[in-house]
Amino acid sequence: MQVYTKTSAKSSVVHIGLDDTDSTRGKCTTHAAYRITDYLLNHKFSEFVDYPLLIRLNPNIPWKTRGNGAVCLRFRTAYHEDVLDRLMDLVDHERLVASGANPGIAVYCGESIPPSIQSFARKALYDVVSRKMAEELAKRHQIRFFIDGNGQGLVGSIAAIGTLLQEDHTFEAVAYRKQEKCGTLRKLDSAQVVQYDTETFPYTFNNYDRSHHRVLILPHGPDPVFCGIRGESAEIVVSALRKLQISEKLEGHMVFRTNQGTNQHLQNEMGFADIKCYTAGFSQCRVDSRPTVIEGGHAIFSVRDPVGAVVNAAVYEPTDLVNIAAKLEVGDVIKIGFGVRKPSSKHLRILNVEYLQVLETKEIFETVNPICLTCNKRMKSEGMNKGFRCHKCGSRNKDAKKILILKPRMIETRLFVPTPRAHRHLTKPVHRYGMEKSLRSTSAITLCPAWFSKT
Ligand code: ATP
Repeated sequence: MQVYTKTSAKSSVVHIGLDDTDSTRGKCTTHAAYRITDYLLNHKFSEFVDYPLLIRLNPNIPWKTRGNGAVCLRFRTAYHEDVLDRLMDLVDHERLVASGANPGIAVYCGESIPPSIQSFARKALYDVVSRKMAEELAKRHQIRFFIDGNGQGLVGSIAAIGTLLQEDHTFEAVAYRKQEKCGTLRKLDSAQVVQYDTETFPYTFNNYDRSHHRVLILPHGPDPVFCGIRGESAEIVVSALRKLQISEKLEGHMVFRTNQGTNQHLQNEMGFADIKCYTAGFSQCRVDSRPTVIEGGHAIFSVRDPVGAVVNAAVYEPTDLVNIAAKLEVGDVIKIGFGVRKPSSKHLRILNVEYLQVLETKEIFETVNPICLTCNKRMKSEGMNKGFRCHKCGSRNKDAKKILILKPRMIETRLFVPTPRAHRHLTKPVHRYGMEKSLRSTSAITLCPAWFSKT
């Protein structure tokens, strides 16, 4: 592991960014953050000035392992040199960072985060940023960093430090398993999940997918996370966790403040002309070709932006939005949130649609035969320019013409989001629209007493 020990300016707030760390208990950056937090709280050197932040970065990065998560811990201490030395001992001794992954740990000391680190973090949410750019920032702002493998973890660790999350955010209480339990089946009574979901929704969310009868709070891998409960405040996610009465003896829990469930990666409006692969954003555009449903049940159609650039878009089967997308017609005005998929030998560059808002539907007319004036039935054509005849009463009308009628559009003008089981971490559930919150400043945060526990 390379260790850079440039001395930082003296300051009382320490910001630690972690990404792609690999603990001996399984692979999970949030668990490494849990162990470091435990250490910091135990040694009473430090007072946390914010909840640990769990930041989901650009979900379209091809080299991510799972949810492209990075963590930032911010605490005030009078002895930060001392704390950092001990922290590095801990990282080494506990092997919180093991080889095999590409971990990054970055440490910045300062009362506030410089704007250039904040804009780097904003870019890392929807674009691909280079490790070189991260290294330059580190040099410029005297960020100490520790990297291994290809060093790519530095990007996420600095991006986590640069994300203040003063805009919309949510919370997640993550419960951790004891080491000996990792890799064994997680036992949970799904009826209890349904019950606390009923009691706490919409203040907790993505607990249970009622249409597919699936518990959503359990991961499936061998990692140390037992479950994660998402919601609107630290208090509600901890109280929901307690309602679960988990029988397995756990290591403890920690509450993260997070950008999960906020669509934070889709805030950038994009034109289609020079769109880059792996980026994410939104566009208000027009449907340019009628959707076709291809093998696998996905809907493919093209969209045209306001300056006329056209690109293909895909709505995938697991989102449960294909039936909606299939009803779009050329000329409909829609807003889509999307990630840009790399072109392959089989497909051109394509937008993977993450939400679909139907703003305006085009009037569609169809031509039909005229109605018989005697018996009110639709007449049949007698042939080109020969008029129409009623098959019921036999009356003829040589001058009757085909008529145009407005086709009923079976699509509502509203927002459609994927079904919960197809949600990515950043996907904003439909019920959260209107529930967005913001902070005046991070100094306005008072941590709830139960945000951390160790059993
Ligand atoms: P885990 O859940 O195990 O932490 P993950 O899905 O979060 O896995 P990582 O293993 O952390 O994925 O890998 C993501 C890698 O991509 C990290 O090295 C991170 O620094 C880097 N990365 C994240 N966002 C960007 C970005 N916008 N541009 C370039 N690299 C990025």
